[in-house]
Amino acid sequence: MMPRLHKHLWMDSDTEVFRDQLRRYIENEMVPHLDGWRKQGYIPRETWHAFGELGFLLPELPEEYGGSGVSLAYQMVVQDELARCEVPSADVGVHTIAAHYILDYGTEEQKQRWLPKLASGEHLAGIAMTEPGCGSDLKAIRTHARRDGNYYVIDGSKTFITNGYTGTLLVLACRTGEAGSKGLSLIVLETLGLDGFKVGRVLEKIGQHASNTAELFFDNMRVPAANLIGDIEGRGFVQLMSQLAYERMLLCVPAAAVMELALKLTTEYAKERKMFGQTLFNLQNTRFKLAEVATIAHIARTFVNDCIQRLIDGNLDKEASYMAKLWCTEQQGKVVDECLQIFGGYGYMVEYPIARLYADARVQRIYGGANEVMRDLIARSL
Ligand SMILES: Cc1cc2nc3c(=O)[nH]c(=O)nc-3n(C[C@H](O)[C@H](O)[C@H](O)COP(=O)(O)OP(=O)(O)OC[C@H]3O[C@@H](n4cnc5c(N)ncnc54)[C@H](O)[C@@H]3O)c2cc1C
Repeated sequence: MMPRLHKHLWMDSDTEVFRDQLRRYIENEMVPHLDGWRKQGYIPRETWHAFGELGFLLPELPEEYGGSGVSLAYQMVVQDELARCEVPSADVGVHTIAAHYILDYGTEEQKQRWLPKLASGEHLAGIAMTEPGCGSDLKAIRTHARRDGNYYVIDGSKTFITNGYTGTLLVLACRTGEAGSKGLSLIVLETLGLDGFKVGRVLEKIGQHASNTAELFFDNMRVPAANLIGDIEGRGFVQLMSQLAYERMLLCVPAAAVMELALKLTTEYAKERKMFGQTLFNLQNTRFKLAEVATIAHIARTFVNDCIQRLIDGNLDKEASYMAKLWCTEQQGKVVDECLQIFGGYGYMVEYPIARLYADARVQRIYGGANEVMRDLIARSL
């Protein structure tokens, strides 16, 4: 039996009821469709709409904006439960981040206009920052918005955008002014029927097959000036940078969930698999490897739970969140690799979940700030 985790204050009976309902819903209504979603390369928008109608999207939003007014811990529970069932948590992660930019920096009118539809899933959101010529170095963004009366005229392109194909609302990072960080702004696009907006290729990835990642093109695209988040140009970079602590947690929680899943799947397999007159589990190497994996998974969960508690208490510093992103995603990569090895050739077959976990894990060290960027940011604080 795995050691019991220290119970944090945020894990009260209400979050547990929420978790139970959510788990049942994901297992019964989503998991049976996962294979089909992987084949088609996306989860239908309607699926997230139903998810939102049940209160599973953005539960942390205040009630006046369509949420349940609960703590961010509930959002972490959503990430946890999706990941443990292999439903792409990134789709909900970017939706959440987009909504929080509006919640934290939007005008009252903007909040009223968009947040209830994001909470219900009527809108599915994404965030469009990365461009073919810039990813880690966001100061180099070139997509340009020129003011023309009550409109912005936007030209440029984005790539690798999660929910780029299925989304209907995008928070676009673009240039409204001078070169560098001070010339960036965030503008909301409602993409359905938007002239000048085009979805390019839905990109083929080595993993995360049910999550759509697309190229986007903007050609003379006219967007109401009222869609500028916060009404003042040039705040985009600061807005993007000031949410980092909780955004990192949206990646760490799934990392912890996947390590636990890999441990469970591999332990079960090793106890079944017969070789040399015994089970694979009985070989000392397997036992030692799984003991190490169990220890890492336990430490990751403890670290993540501590960060969630601090997030809710309002004292999660950025450095701790960078460390959590760095360490948990590095460990996720190592753990799924070790576990796959224990499956032998079966571990290389896509029909085995461990093979998918291996491919899915790779991007965790790249997106949400590459891990080299995390190392650099941590080092700056030393
Ligand atoms: C599946 C997927 C989904 C994504 N979803 C989104 C999305 O929804 N919205 C969005 O805007 N973007 C998204 N991205 C883009 C993602 O955020 C970028 O890929 C990431 O920021 C890295 O940028 P890049 O790919 O341009 O690599 P680059 O910036 O070119 O970096 C390449 C490598 O350089 C190294 N490096 C970078 N900076 C440093 C440094 N400071 N010190 C040392 N080494 C460094 C790292 O090893 C890094 O991996 C997604 C990407 C993927 C793969």
